[in-house]
Amino acid sequence: MKIRWTVLTLAITFSCAIAFTQAQNPPAPIPSVVEKLRDDLYVLKGEGGNVTVLVTNEGAILVDAKFERNHDDLVAKVKTITNQPIKYVFNSHWHGDHTGGNAKLLPGAQIIAHKNALADMVKGKAPGQPQLTYSDQMGINLGGKEVVAYNFGSCHTNGDTFVYFPAQKVLAAGDCFNTGNGQGLNPNNRLTYSFYMDYMSGGSFVGREKTADALLKLDFDTVVPGHGPVTTRARFVEWREEITKIRGRITTMLRENKSKDDITKMLVAEFGWDATGNAVTRSLDGMIAELK
Ligand SMILES: [Zn+2]
Repeated sequence: MKIRWTVLTLAITFSCAIAFTQAQNPPAPIPSVVEKLRDDLYVLKGEGGNVTVLVTNEGAILVDAKFERNHDDLVAKVKTITNQPIKYVFNSHWHGDHTGGNAKLLPGAQIIAHKNALADMVKGKAPGQPQLTYSDQMGINLGGKEVVAYNFGSCHTNGDTFVYFPAQKVLAAGDCFNTGNGQGLNPNNRLTYSFYMDYMSGGSFVGREKTADALLKLDFDTVVPGHGPVTTRARFVEWREEITKIRGRITTMLRENKSKDDITKMLVAEFGWDATGNAVTRSLDGMIAELK
């Protein structure tokens, strides 16, 4: 017994030491890569959510702020694009990989989010809370360039913001629409779209259809997803159609009293979902509850 306790104590001491070392030396933040979409519109890809940057001669407008640890790199990358200061930052939703950088940007920039995103940040005591909020739609006119933010109800959360750049025909979609492995490139290498709804924050699978239809009334040809590669309107339409197909399949299976396991197998086989990914582990229970 005594030997066992010694072994246990040693094991605990050892794992605490590893945890302490990791806390002392967290992996370095990964620098983002700049992708040019238009002469005045760029995307910073990499760690955290995608950041869209619109350049005007009166300042830059950003969509999202990555994690706090990405702040220095984010500011440095914006400086490679423009000497203009960052004037406005939209938060596509409240999650930390999109808002973690808010606090460090606040001294110079106005942070804007949907009112429900602010409510979640207040509830979670998140730093860098937005100063400006809106309900359905708001616009900014800076340096003669127009940017419009929309909320069409629940999708990834109940506080999603879609930022539309009309002259550029670009939509920054946040996590309602993710490509790549957000969660895209599955083990079978088939492109799928993320179906991660944060039900704790009012996300909704059914709300996706309404949101997608409202977005498709806007005239855009390029979409910046919350995570993953920048893509086309055609892919966005494909995603819209997939929502209806998935809803139909799950509704039918629930009527046939099929189990969650059966539904998971169907999503993997027919829609290329990752059985261990966010959509299955964090959203499927909520989807089934919504569709029952
Ligand atoms: Zn998110």
